[in-house]
Amino acid sequence: VQANDETQPTDAATTPALRAIADLRRGASVWLRGDDICLRLAAAENCLETDALLSAEQSDLSLILTAARYAVLCPRGPHFDADCVRLDGPMSGIERQRLLDPSFSGPIPDRIAVRPATAIETAAIELIKLAHLMPAALVRHAGQIQENGRPESDPIVLDLEALDRAQQQALGGMTVVARAAVPLQEAEDATIVAFRPADGGKEHLAIVIGNPDPDQPVLIRLHSECFTGDLLASLRCDCGEQLHGAVREIERSGGGVILYLAQEGRGIGLVNKLRAYQLQDRGFDTIDANQMMGFDADERVYQPAAEMLKRLGYTTVRLLTNNPEKVQALRECGIAVAERVPHAFPANNHNERYLRTKAARAGHLL
Ligand SMILES: [Zn+2]
Repeated sequence: VQANDETQPTDAATTPALRAIADLRRGASVWLRGDDICLRLAAAENCLETDALLSAEQSDLSLILTAARYAVLCPRGPHFDADCVRLDGPMSGIERQRLLDPSFSGPIPDRIAVRPATAIETAAIELIKLAHLMPAALVRHAGQIQENGRPESDPIVLDLEALDRAQQQALGGMTVVARAAVPLQEAEDATIVAFRPADGGKEHLAIVIGNPDPDQPVLIRLHSECFTGDLLASLRCDCGEQLHGAVREIERSGGGVILYLAQEGRGIGLVNKLRAYQLQDRGFDTIDANQMMGFDADERVYQPAAEMLKRLGYTTVRLLTNNPEKVQALRECGIAVAERVPHAFPANNHNERYLRTKAARAGHLL
């Protein structure tokens, strides 16, 4: 194993964000500080069982939901021009649990006030998304807890600047941490290069087949990892076929690169993808299911892919995809897309509806 780059230590300023993420994931609450306001938050999905914030008075807790989740609960509005909304008012534990349960589709009781979330409340949701949890927060504003913010015993206070930096580091500043030849059944001359993002998060992989000429447009595929499809050959999606099809196609055409991106389930993560499957089994399609959990229809980002390509020396590509959004996204990240190369496979009994949804609602050219 040969590491090519110097190790980039995680920026000390990001440490509170990484600690906060770990705390949220294990069900604890964290403090977030804006310019003149401080709030305490917990990821709602953990508060359903453990209770980080709920032990004291429950009446002054607010619920922060994404606009996508709010649209499921209140499809007829009132509409707000905001990424997130805040729900306040007397709410029983059961009511709150319902509002957070993705399979509950409303309505919100009349006595609960809804208004656009403030910047710091929206940041609470961004932090929860960085933690790969369901994007809903329980918050208590500092004024309601104690006059001057946090108690001394609570060590982690995250400010918005540190959160912003953590978001940037999750997307880039990648280091090559390993590189090795891995002959594949369908492409013997293959090398895997592992890139670690600056926040120390999960590595993205480049699978380089052959030795593509950087002066020519290189054939590439952006593949978001799919544990169920790639490894288990699940019939719920077409990822495994797409991946192996791409290896064969790139080998056949003389070389290229597959970027294997750590963003399972269109960026919502494996756990949330399994939750979405449960909703789909109740009759909702893949896009509705994501929105019921509060996610956008597609949460993927392509900055990491663009950075990996540039680091490998490839800035002009031919992109194997049926998704015009990927073409656009790569271009916006500074990669020239010379051509879109179609990449379609026949449906099976289980994924036919999924493929139809991708075509009808996500603009895929199938
Ligand atoms: Zn899949």
